[in-house]
Amino acid sequence: GFFDYNRLGNHAHHEGHKISSPKQLIGDALRERVEGIDPELCEPGAEDTFFVADLGEVYRQHLRWKLNLPRVKPFYAVKCNPDTKLLGLLSALGTGFDCASKAEIEQVLGLGVEPSRIIYAQPCKTNSYVRYVASKGVRQMTFDNADELRKIARLYPEAELFLRILTDDSSSLCRLSLKFGASLDSTDSLLALARDLGLNVVGVSFHVGSGASDPRAFLKAVQDAHVVFGQAAVHGFSLKTLDVGGGFCSDNTFEQMAGVLRAALDDYFPAHSGVNIIAEPGRYYASSAFTLACNVIARRTIEDVTASSYMLYVNDGLYGNFSSIMFDHQHPVAKVLRCGGRVLYNTPAAEATEAADGIEYSIWGPTCDGIDRITESIRFPQLLDVGDWLYFEDMGAYTMCSATTFNGFSNDHDVIYVCSEEGAKALLGLH
Ligand code: PLP
Repeated sequence: GFFDYNRLGNHAHHEGHKISSPKQLIGDALRERVEGIDPELCEPGAEDTFFVADLGEVYRQHLRWKLNLPRVKPFYAVKCNPDTKLLGLLSALGTGFDCASKAEIEQVLGLGVEPSRIIYAQPCKTNSYVRYVASKGVRQMTFDNADELRKIARLYPEAELFLRILTDDSSSLCRLSLKFGASLDSTDSLLALARDLGLNVVGVSFHVGSGASDPRAFLKAVQDAHVVFGQAAVHGFSLKTLDVGGGFCSDNTFEQMAGVLRAALDDYFPAHSGVNIIAEPGRYYASSAFTLACNVIARRTIEDVTASSYMLYVNDGLYGNFSSIMFDHQHPVAKVLRCGGRVLYNTPAAEATEAADGIEYSIWGPTCDGIDRITESIRFPQLLDVGDWLYFEDMGAYTMCSATTFNGFSNDHDVIYVCSEEGAKALLGLH
């Protein structure tokens, strides 16, 4: 993707140094891109789906985090969206990084991030990756079972280990505790084994499930972690860090979640305990910063005696950036970006209308698979046709990272970066 900050600089200049609203900046970037494409004449792929990312939104989310969870240092979960500019801004903001594979660790180290700002938060690791992190000095990693402890004892006995415990993740979108986490019945014997193997346990971690909705899950997990800190002390470990994982959403549930977590931490791990608190937020930082634009590539008319409806085929789908529908249980909402040459971004006319009021559409991806459906039913006042554009907001989390190239459609799409915060521009060296 291209990265034209000069344009942003000029933009700010023309506005008399007034910072444009985020919507204005995103709208300008979308408009400029789609107005430059003529679907009748363009090269194959020129009308491909693309993102606009507002790094200012990431910056605002960081300030919001610091306001609500001042004691908790975020280690951004790279898996959620490994966009290099996003990682670069977070690195400049001083966050740590949660990595789950060699490639993620390599990418983060490549940004010049110190190994001590990385946690290899994957309880079941690949042998060769453990040897790799040992060679790079990335010491912090999680474990949740005896076999993994024996692996680490063999490959990297100096590692700084976090015992990941099970949580109640029943309120979350993506449950993780079916696969990972030691039950409280097993933590004592795992700590005893770690002691016998001469390993270095430094903390406890948990994850309440991605997209969690019940703040009580955080309270219970903090209480359980406190129990494990006590067990560890009996085995001679002086744990120094609690890792409260991810699960935070970027919508207005965040303040409530953070409030419950903050109170639980103050009760069980007060500041004077000297315990460091870290977290592994992914979705919280990435989701709202990315807007996706798709081109309507085909349309099928469904004739009906009363009113026709239409199947719209767009050039991105469940095998692409809408993988979030399959893997992340999302329901992205289409809005009209451009219809018949008119850009409607961020106007009331872009939004879906009440049922019965508008023309009914279903929206489908470009592959030959019948499951590749983005939206079963939505109504717009406009009659949309081939060449028109749709957009989807909040497309930054678990989208492009799990997109495939099924049917030969690219999963490497342009990202146009804008920045709606002066503070973030300064960090990125854009003044
Ligand atoms: N940490 C771990 C170990 C995870 O598995 C995940 C997501 O799967 C995350 C952090 C990020 O979670 P979220 O995006 O919900 O904040």
